[in-house]
Amino acid sequence: MASQSDSFDVAVVGGGAIGLACAWRASQRGARVVVVDAGEPGAWNVAAGMLAPVSEAEFGERALLELGLESARRYAAFCAELEQPGYRDVGTLVVARDRDEAEALERLAAFRTGLGLPVERLRPSQARALEPALAPTVRLALDIPSDHSIDPRRLVAALGRAFGGELRRARAASLSVGRGRVTGVVLEDGAEIAAGAVVVAAGVHVSRLGMPEAARVPVRPVKGQVLRLRDPGGPGLVERTIRGESAYFVPRGDGRYVLGATMEDRGWDTTPTAGGVYELLRDISEVVPGVFELDIEELSAGLRPATPDNVPAIGRGALEGLVWATGHFRNGILLTPVTADLVAAALAGEVLPSWAAPADPLRFAGVPA
Ligand SMILES: Cc1cc2nc3c(=O)[nH]c(=O)nc-3n(C[C@H](O)[C@H](O)[C@H](O)COP(=O)(O)OP(=O)(O)OC[C@H]3O[C@@H](n4cnc5c(N)ncnc54)[C@H](O)[C@@H]3O)c2cc1C
Repeated sequence: MASQSDSFDVAVVGGGAIGLACAWRASQRGARVVVVDAGEPGAWNVAAGMLAPVSEAEFGERALLELGLESARRYAAFCAELEQPGYRDVGTLVVARDRDEAEALERLAAFRTGLGLPVERLRPSQARALEPALAPTVRLALDIPSDHSIDPRRLVAALGRAFGGELRRARAASLSVGRGRVTGVVLEDGAEIAAGAVVVAAGVHVSRLGMPEAARVPVRPVKGQVLRLRDPGGPGLVERTIRGESAYFVPRGDGRYVLGATMEDRGWDTTPTAGGVYELLRDISEVVPGVFELDIEELSAGLRPATPDNVPAIGRGALEGLVWATGHFRNGILLTPVTADLVAAALAGEVLPSWAAPADPLRFAGVPA
């Protein structure tokens, strides 16, 4: 039986960027919130932190683009409420190494311009005037000044400070369900936290949380490896995020860089591999040769939480009291502000805006995982 002190308006399962931001926004609206977090670094601890809806706008991903743009518009104000979240409003250059890549980039540039997105086509000499460290062989570049970046580790630390509410270091084993509604969370040790609503925000681990199968959002892990690098000479190799065909290079502004990321369907495996490191260094060194001068600080791998349609699940679920905030795949850091606002609105019983409809968790209700 849960004690009185173990009863909350909202319990959030997962204290990564998504869970903490949802908890923070819900407490700002007056809810008594507890975050249950297993204390293991999630995808946020590995993520590069690109806030890049425009450079990631692909054919056929319109729903994701709308959500990403909505979140990017909120980012500066969101960060202004936080203490040192590591936000950098410096833009992005997307570069092509050869003729094939240049043709593909031309098609994407036309697609993005057609949607009214702010992209500017640069000749190699113009790109190198902006970023002198680019290889002379670069064939074409797109300048995307509105695609920024953030340090996800600093963001999570800042969100933890801003939330300031109760944080339980524990692993949630299942949802408590009674009379057709969610009534709280059962922890691994059997203890129960009673709550009026539960926000499921445990990244890829939501697939291991016990709950009625018909209410589940299916999420699968997609492995990504990244290298954290540091220039012993200090900052300045590149200012902007540089994106190639399959690798990206994100400056933190202080001489540190994140080089990412592989995309691998390898289940729950998070072992960094020689092949992964080789791929990343090979691809980015053809665009920024100076990468070979940098020190390696860290090599890590994480799991992106992906739904079957790669669009997240945000909002009320198939049981009363169940709210989803998961499946953010490769854009969870970008989508943090908009997810938190939507979840706080869902918890308050508000109708979510129509642009959020593609992320409705009910599209998976009753569909076998
Ligand atoms: C290599 C890589 C690069 C990426 N780059 C970017 C990028 O540049 N831009 C971008 O926007 N996104 C990026 N992402 C995606 C982003 O990291 C994820 O979408 C985002 O972190 C998902 O956030 P989350 O809070 O849902 O999950 P996570 O970050 O995985 O956090 C989940 C949290 O839940 C906790 N938890 C797990 N199980 C339980 C349980 N049973 N009980 C209690 N707590 C639990 C964990 O301890 C963890 O703290 C990248 C991801 C990877 C792997």
